Amino acid sequence: MKILTATEKPFAAAAVNGIKEICQAAGHEAVLLEKYTDRQQLLDAAADADALIVRSDKVTPEVIAAAPKLKIVVRAGAGYDNISLDACTERGIVVMNTPGQNSNAVAELALAMMIYMSRNCFTPGTGKEISGKKLGIQAYGNVGRLVAAKAKALGMEVMAYDPFVPAEKMLADGVVPATTLEEMYSSCNFISLHIPATAETRGSIGYSLLSLMPDGACLVNTARKEVINEAELVKVLSDRAGLKYVTDIAADCQAELNEKFGKRVFATPKKMGAETAEANINAGLAAARQIVEYFATGCTRFQVNAK
Ligand code: NAD
Repeated sequence: MKILTATEKPFAAAAVNGIKEICQAAGHEAVLLEKYTDRQQLLDAAADADALIVRSDKVTPEVIAAAPKLKIVVRAGAGYDNISLDACTERGIVVMNTPGQNSNAVAELALAMMIYMSRNCFTPGTGKEISGKKLGIQAYGNVGRLVAAKAKALGMEVMAYDPFVPAEKMLADGVVPATTLEEMYSSCNFISLHIPATAETRGSIGYSLLSLMPDGACLVNTARKEVINEAELVKVLSDRAGLKYVTDIAADCQAELNEKFGKRVFATPKKMGAETAEANINAGLAAARQIVEYFATGCTRFQVNAK
């Protein structure tokens, strides 16, 4: 089988080599397309691929149509909103992600962002400590759980909201389960977003929730920009002079945010949550292993589209 790794933003070299080794050891051919600048390069490379490994690359219906032999697509990472699930399902193509493989990298960045914003973006002046502050975690999945554990170790009180995780699990981790988002937003100094971008969550973080936050509170977004209602974010930052917003995914209106709110907002220049050598290697190798296992045994453990 031909396994294509197509990454506009390349993997670390160790991940690229590891993917190749795993594919070849199982008797498959490993093909690499990285740093492509034109969609046509992706369409051409996909033409004879049986399997596809991507990162944030967009796997649109056009890509699926250009790849008649494609049987499996693996998103090396957690969020898979860059993949057209319906187009894959229609063709019987299996879509998987690699859950948990980059979570530690994202969790560390979320904590770093809290400290950065608490210390005036590392400019002179009196800052604040995060120890003793209250953190609300929106979505208690792989990243959310790690943020909770690390925050607790740094002396924070942690609350979490996730309707799909039993309260007992949070309590066992020493995390207070929030029964409503309103309860969490109104009582936390930091809210850290770890929800996936879905039909339900897109645009769901807006004025009604953000205006509940206490003075000086900070919203931390290492999830997706799409979950934010940007017009309402601008309004709440205008109305509430103490609120802060830090994000790993620049808003469409980031220039306006920067101009209007200065050090109360910060966006990483390019999404970097999963940009560590460790996360790259973990996610890349997991993607290759999952494809090899799928071809060998039909295992669909991490399938995310409808079967
Ligand atoms: P995960 O699948 O392990 O966890 C997602 C959690 O969201 C689950 O516990 C689920 O129950 C919960 N959830 C779903 N809908 C919800 C809702 N409406 N309200 C509250 N909770 C809800 O995913 P993860 O690995 O923790 O990653 C979370 C998100 O972080 C990803 O979907 C992705 O968008 C983003 N992410 C960003 C980067 C980055 O580079 N910044 C890297 C990895 C992941």
